[in-house]
Formats: sequence, structure tokens, C-alpha cells
Amino acid sequence: MLSRKSIYLMSLLIIWMAVIYQARTAHAHYFLNCNSVDSGEIRYSDNTAYDDALDHAIDIWNSYELIYLVPDDWASFEDLVWYDVDRDDVDWAGKYYCYAYYTDEIRMNSYILDGQSLFMQKYVAAHEQGHALGLAHNQTDYSQLMWYTAVCGCNTPQSHDVGDYQEKWGP
Ligand SMILES: [Zn+2]
Repeated sequence: MLSRKSIYLMSLLIIWMAVIYQARTAHAHYFLNCNSVDSGEIRYSDNTAYDDALDHAIDIWNSYELIYLVPDDWASFEDLVWYDVDRDDVDWAGKYYCYAYYTDEIRMNSYILDGQSLFMQKYVAAHEQGHALGLAHNQTDYSQLMWYTAVCGCNTPQSHDVGDYQEKWGP
């Protein structure tokens, strides 16, 4: 039979373990091992028809002022290209492709996006741009932009999204 003292110590241990677990998950960062950032910026080409969504993604991520998303021009190396596909054989609305030796891609799927609101189109663009900045899917908090499905009711980076961005690119 357990003594009162050992029960007390065990409950303390459980509480302590719960605190440690909380602290660890609260500070977890979700990064891809590939991104489109080159010398502090991403030079992108706009071949998508979803210009309002693209502009939204560019403006919202540029507002954090660590990595700059800038249109590609003749003098710069193209890091990322946005374009549209029309695919009914996949379930994604947008997808980021990261390549070691080629220009990275964000593909917007018109088959799904054309049936979505502008708010949702902006969500997809901002989420995919988050991937191009090296952010992976959040594994613990569905209220974040970088959760793997669109359940945050948001279309801008949330606290953990911004925390990960700052952890990865901040001083
Ligand atoms: Zn994603």
C-alpha cells in the first residue's frame, strides 16, 4: 500500500511532468528543411490569376520585415514562381514545391479555388507562402495559419506562425 507521502510525491511528479510537456509543446517550432529564401529575400514571378490572393500573401508576410518578398526582374535570380493548375484528381487547393536546383513553385488549383471565397483564396496563398518561407505544418494548434487544413478561420499568420517565422529568420 502506498503511503500518503509517496502519493503526494507522485502527484507532484505528474504535475511537474505536465508543466514540462506544456513548456516543450509551447516552444515547439515547425520548420521545413527546404525554403525559397535567398540572401534575405524571395524573388518571385507572378503567373497566377489569383492576384488579390497573391498580393495579400506578399503584403502580410512582408509586414514582419525579416525576409522580403520581391517581384523577380531581369537582374535577379528567380527563387519562386506562382502559377495555376486545374486538377480534379487531387484534394489540395494550393501546394508548395521546393527544389534544390530549380525555381521553387507554388501551384494554385483553380478546380478547388474557383469555388472558394476571396477570403479562402487569400488563406491558401498566405499558407503556401508560409511554406516557401520554410514553415512546416503546425502539429499542435489548429488555430494557426500553418495547420494542415483550413480550420483556423484566419487568412493571416497567427501567434505561433509568427513565432516560428521570427525564430527562423530573426536576429
Ligand atoms: Zn500546407
